[in-house]
Amino acid sequence: MSETEISTLGEFGLIDRLTRDFPLQNSSSKKGVGDDAAVLDYKDKEVLVTTDLLLEGIHFDVRYVPLKHLGYKAAVVNFSDIYAMNGTPRQITVSLGLSSRFTVEHVEALYSGIRLACERYGVDLVGGDTSASATGLVISITCIGEGEKGKIVYRSGAQPTDLLCVSGDLGAAYMGLQLLERENSVAAASGLPDFQPDFAGKEYILERQLKPEARKDIIEELNKAGIQPTSMMDVSDGLSSELLHICKASGVGCRVYEDKIPIDYQTACMAEEFNMNLVTAALNGGEDYELLFTVPLTDHDRVKALPGVSVIGYITKPELGAALVTRDGQELPLKAQGWNAFYSSETK
Ligand code: ADP
Ligand code: MG
Repeated sequence: MSETEISTLGEFGLIDRLTRDFPLQNSSSKKGVGDDAAVLDYKDKEVLVTTDLLLEGIHFDVRYVPLKHLGYKAAVVNFSDIYAMNGTPRQITVSLGLSSRFTVEHVEALYSGIRLACERYGVDLVGGDTSASATGLVISITCIGEGEKGKIVYRSGAQPTDLLCVSGDLGAAYMGLQLLERENSVAAASGLPDFQPDFAGKEYILERQLKPEARKDIIEELNKAGIQPTSMMDVSDGLSSELLHICKASGVGCRVYEDKIPIDYQTACMAEEFNMNLVTAALNGGEDYELLFTVPLTDHDRVKALPGVSVIGYITKPELGAALVTRDGQELPLKAQGWNAFYSSETK
């Protein structure tokens, strides 16, 4: 494929090319791309705003992350933050810093992922900014969403005796990243330009890393079931760290049962292959984009009936602290360490 230098289109030509296939889908988007500012009309809703900055070399590595996937993920992780407030994402703005390595085709690939995410989640692209960059690719996405008055769920509402719940399974995206990094170094060491990594049987963990989804479906199910969580957040930095956020914001403690943490079979196999402690990976891995939430004990039966939701523990008084209850009944204080710190002190 022939590659087009961005200078052949110019900044405005590029913006035009990138944004022309984004028809507006929401009535709250009054004016999208093409003026000095977008115009949004949220009537009597509460407006939610979240933003994320992604830097090449810090948050992603273009050697093994396809640009289309990168665009999809960059958008979806913002949607996830809006769902985590019990809201609905409606608009995004996308700001780009492009170094001279990037061609029109590269940026179009990135935008094809953003477009797919916008179509699937019903979100409008309403603006952005485009600039040259000296240090590789920079992507910043801001997402605007709506919530109903009185229905927004904060991190601060958890109460002692509430049930702790999490959607989906944990640790898979982290194990997917380990696999990608390993195959990337094997490829480099092989010296073969056409080295083919072996990903057979590992599709799920790769997809969880490269193409995560926001749990729109869980928000809809909770709504349908008439369950209003008392607190909620999405799991981006690892369950352990997110539990501590909820405990701190709500002024409570918690108990999480090791044997209740949902883990997929492929995650378990990969952890075994890497000789890593599985529960540590699930607690500290991150990038799961599942929803962690609390519900009153009286919602026990209703929440148990929800497909794809696990009850993993309960909220306690603050004096009891936040702890993991191991399979043999020991209580280990939860720590908000990333994987590396945790791993180095571990005796598997
Ligand atoms: P300004 O000079 O006012 O910053 P720009 O020329 O940067 O305006 O942008 C023109 C229009 O294109 C605006 O509506 C802006 O939001 C939009 N835009 C600019 N860059 C992007 C981008 N990377 N993605 C989407 N929209 C963009
Ligand atoms: Mg601009």
